[in-house]
Amino acid sequence: MGKAARNRVLVINSGSSSIKYQLLDPESSVVAASGIVERIGEDDSAIEHRAESSTTERRVAIADHTAGLRLVFETFAATGHDLEEEGVRAVGHRVVHGGEVFYRPTLIDDYVVATIADLAALAPLHNPANLAGIESARALLPGVPQVAVFDTAFFHGLPAAARTYAIDAKVAAAHGIRKYGFHGTSHEYVSGRVAELLGRDPSEVNQIVFHLGNGASASAIRGGRPVDTSMGLTPLEGLVMGTRPGDLDPGIVAHLARSAHLDIDQIDTLLNRDSGLKGLSGVNDFRELRRRIDSGDEAARLAYEVYIHRLRRYLGAYLIELGGVDAITFTAGVGENSPQVRADALAGLARFGIEVDPAANAAGDRTARRISPPDAPVAVLVVPTNEELAIARAARRVVERLD
Ligand code: ADP
Repeated sequence: MGKAARNRVLVINSGSSSIKYQLLDPESSVVAASGIVERIGEDDSAIEHRAESSTTERRVAIADHTAGLRLVFETFAATGHDLEEEGVRAVGHRVVHGGEVFYRPTLIDDYVVATIADLAALAPLHNPANLAGIESARALLPGVPQVAVFDTAFFHGLPAAARTYAIDAKVAAAHGIRKYGFHGTSHEYVSGRVAELLGRDPSEVNQIVFHLGNGASASAIRGGRPVDTSMGLTPLEGLVMGTRPGDLDPGIVAHLARSAHLDIDQIDTLLNRDSGLKGLSGVNDFRELRRRIDSGDEAARLAYEVYIHRLRRYLGAYLIELGGVDAITFTAGVGENSPQVRADALAGLARFGIEVDPAANAAGDRTARRISPPDAPVAVLVVPTNEELAIARAARRVVERLD
């Protein structure tokens, strides 16, 4: 037990009011425990912790991220994993924005902490929360290497034509304005799995990946390297999401300021929390959206149609950018679980070699699989993402270099 336990990595995904975590072995992928602390800072905060076959739930006021993480450690100890005693190989932290500075998994020291804090200007909703998780974990496990894995890293090398916004180049340079892209850990992991599943070297595969969760993004990947992605300077651009609009005429921002007298923070909130599916239909959860569509709710139907329309627009753009594809893959909560989204996204494209087999698409399988007919030129796949495993592996690679 001792040695195996010490090889595990604790992965922490610290959000503005939650901490998701997993303790896992990066080699075998076996998860020893996982959980979530929710509603940090509110009266009804709670922890849900799963270890082996048991789930522990507790409702208790959790003031901040440090208190949240302390509770996580206490819960680990109470359920048979004293992290300080049994040890972990590393802590891997998901960090949303690495800016131009960080484009590979990075061992955290005081300089890295300060730089992630500086990058908060680019990701005000995310980086401060990520940092709170990092600082708490450093305080609670002082002897353990901590590694930051950046959501933007995979897209750092996007071609200049894809990453450049057509605004005053001097203004862009002064303020770090470029397309950074997000969900990179997922796009990298899933596209790597696609090459494995096709039994081909990643350098031989042209592919499009749709990561469709609450946040949603698409990427075009040529020979293992991303050549375009839908999210931009921030995670607002691109596809329609649960609460974010994706692409908008930027003139809308100025118009809202002038006509609706919204200040910039109100506009930011409108775009980050009250737009997308929720703004159009009142709900951001896809299952609830479907229930409403089935009961004849027109606003829900329109929200769905806008969602699919945008997705197909990106599909068309990326097909042309790549000059044709070998694979199109769906991942994350909606992508993995909604046969209807997959079917509607790819309907009527047989002339491009893109077809979905209805029976394979409908199968409620949880594993990676092909849903196109075996003889169709383009492989359409469903591949479950696993950002925690990717972060754990990246963290292990960094600490191996320290040995
Ligand atoms: P995130 O990690 O971005 O918070 P997830 O990848 O967990 O999000 O995806 C959340 C989304 O997945 C929600 O909109 C949810 O409704 C949707 N989802 C989960 N299960 C299903 C399902 N069985 N059918 C349709 N959508 C689902």
